[in-house]
Amino acid sequence: MQNHSLSHDSAVLIIGGSLVGLSAALFLARRGVATIVIEKHHDSAPHPRAMGFTERTMEHYRAAGIGERIAQVPPQARLRRVRADSLTGAWRQETEWTPGETQERRASASPCGEGVTAQVRVRDSGAVLTLRAAYLIGADGAGSPVRTALGIERQGIGHLRTLRSILFRCPGAEPYLARGITQFDIEQPGFKCFLTTYGDGRWALMFDQTQPVGDDLVELVRRALGQDLAVEVLATGRWELAGRIADRFSQGRVFLAGDAAHQLPPTRGGFGANTGIDDAANLAWKLSRVVQRRSSPLLLDTYDAECRPIAWLRHQQTLARPDYAQWAKGTLEHEALFGNEAMELGQLQRSAAILGAGPALPAAAHPDQWAGQPGTRMPHVWIEAGGRTLSTLDLATDGFVLLAQDRSWIDAARAQTGPACPLRALQVGVEIVFPADASFEHRFGVAADGAVLVRPDALIAWRASRLAADPARTLADAIKQVAMLA
Ligand SMILES: Cc1cc2nc3c(=O)[nH]c(=O)nc-3n(C[C@H](O)[C@H](O)[C@H](O)COP(=O)(O)OP(=O)(O)OC[C@H]3O[C@@H](n4cnc5c(N)ncnc54)[C@H](O)[C@@H]3O)c2cc1C
Repeated sequence: MQNHSLSHDSAVLIIGGSLVGLSAALFLARRGVATIVIEKHHDSAPHPRAMGFTERTMEHYRAAGIGERIAQVPPQARLRRVRADSLTGAWRQETEWTPGETQERRASASPCGEGVTAQVRVRDSGAVLTLRAAYLIGADGAGSPVRTALGIERQGIGHLRTLRSILFRCPGAEPYLARGITQFDIEQPGFKCFLTTYGDGRWALMFDQTQPVGDDLVELVRRALGQDLAVEVLATGRWELAGRIADRFSQGRVFLAGDAAHQLPPTRGGFGANTGIDDAANLAWKLSRVVQRRSSPLLLDTYDAECRPIAWLRHQQTLARPDYAQWAKGTLEHEALFGNEAMELGQLQRSAAILGAGPALPAAAHPDQWAGQPGTRMPHVWIEAGGRTLSTLDLATDGFVLLAQDRSWIDAARAQTGPACPLRALQVGVEIVFPADASFEHRFGVAADGAVLVRPDALIAWRASRLAADPARTLADAIKQVAMLA
């Protein structure tokens, strides 16, 4: 075994190059932070790791400049599932993911010292590299060697079952998608399975590994299809269906993200990868500010404070849905059931970097029920800015942004913007114009002379409902706390 010491100036080392590790690298790169990603496989996995991506995930990718390169499907399509004898046989009953909710959607390693040291073995040559970085992200999946090395335990419902899956093509099955249903719970005497499509000609058949189904995979697929259609098997996989949340999402200079931090049972909207990509977006702007010595390392403590409760909320909400009733067995009957949009776009986050997320606020609500409360995602409104139509979310993709109609706030913000905290001030009604039916005051819950401070991840960090006696000092105090200036 060879031992090489590699010297470089990477600020962040990422272990795991799947959905969450690569997202973290992307989000950090566009904020000017150098990363090294270590992945144990040569190529992409032949079996896709996710099919349902939420609007919030797409907002993160839109902010990173790659949103338009990712194919979009109408949100309703991925939610519709039916119980069936087979794909081509009798379809019995369409099942809801969130009962009582209408399907209408608005159009609208060492924690000590000055850094981390990792020893990485190159699988082909056996060479061992010693890499140093200021910080490390463990995005190395549910079995996370990084989490295990740190001795971080997990809690939750635990292992529910292990599924086998068959990825296949079947052009003859495509016409059965015409009615807009893409997910099928198939129940036959002696055989239960779940059939779904990735929408690009690839289908996946999943079933509990304990079912005695034999070795003929093509025959099994045809049994689920209900007809002798031509089938090409592309890949097979085995998945653990489990709910486990790490006791800590960070330790010293090491951060857990994605399945390493939270293993969530699959859902119709997809909490697994989407929650992990949210972790990466939350961590990236904070790490970039700390690496660039603009913010105190205390800002990094807010990662666990903000993201771990979200993972727990999604764990509980998954088990509270009828799909998981057989495992929850009524233990969650007092859990408030939040709708799909509340879970995707309307969660509340709390930490020392968010001022005014009052204790009486719910953990989540439909985005239309929020009005600019700190800790919630900035509301999406189509606005006019310099002759272009933009989403308000397009304003908050880089640094902190202050929105105000009153010139005093804008002058106060422009007087204190600087290298430590670049602050973009946008005057409502002058530089950005809201539509009459979605005014700034109404959507952000402030008076006409109020102000709203939005973080680089589009979360509302602070707001002033009215003009302060000393706007410059009030704003300076708020920024000092929410950015945790170094
Ligand atoms: C069948 C199925 C369907 C799913 N559908 C959805 C969906 O529609 N929407 C959704 O949101 N979620 C979905 N999920 C969940 C989603 O796949 C996971 O949440 C997501 O893959 C987690 O991403 P990750 O990057 O954290 O971990 P992983 O995807 O598990 O990646 C971890 C990576 O780390 C690498 N690694 C591990 N150890 C090391 C090491 N020592 N050194 C270097 N590299 C290492 C691995 O090779 C791997 O590439 C689905 C899961 C399954 C099984």
